Amino acid sequence: MNRRDSVLNIGVLALQGAFIEHSKILKQLGATVVEVRKPEQLTHLDGLIIPGGESTSIGLIAERWGLIEPLREWVQAGKPIWGICAGMVLLAERAEGQKAGGQPLLGGLDITVNRNYFGRQVDSFEMLLDTPKIPALGDGTELCSAIFIRAPVITAIGQGVEPLASLSAADGGKLIVAVRQGSILATAFHPELTADIRWHQLFLDMVCGQYRNPAPA
Ligand code: GLN
Repeated sequence: MNRRDSVLNIGVLALQGAFIEHSKILKQLGATVVEVRKPEQLTHLDGLIIPGGESTSIGLIAERWGLIEPLREWVQAGKPIWGICAGMVLLAERAEGQKAGGQPLLGGLDITVNRNYFGRQVDSFEMLLDTPKIPALGDGTELCSAIFIRAPVITAIGQGVEPLASLSAADGGKLIVAVRQGSILATAFHPELTADIRWHQLFLDMVCGQYRNPAPA
């Protein structure tokens, strides 16, 4: 964090799923972390993470706690946000494989996701991903370790969406598993469950470069 002149305030939506792991890494990188459970906790944050878990549950709890509209406003305002796995599903404009009756989505990210693409075959797997946008580690390691847990895949992207990582499908095609659209980052896998902090570093770099909240009065 020595490139930054002040401490970043990062929110981690803490309704369900793997939020504690993000807090630990963000603190390690020098950020202040707020576990977000109420709309007013979004005030004065510089960036927000929606963790992996279960998108239907996160959406329903967010609805019950009055967070859907404030979160939509966050995305619409162009404030930095990173959705991981279930978080990516929630940020998608379009989702395939939703529960009967649908589920609340925040939208804003111009992608189509297939919610449980990998879950139908294997529940969980780890692999090394080639991610040119992520800088190599000090020892020269370029590949990123990625853990997929009942993971979604991105089946279509809009024009303004940049693919950051993909893997090869059985038919030889590419499956997109990480994207960026402006101040929105989305990954189908869980970097917070590995020792590799480069995705968190990338997100903090996005937060620094793109948007700063005015200091609290
Ligand atoms: N497929 C799950 C969902 O739709 C996400 C799984 C995860 O976040 N690990 O919510």
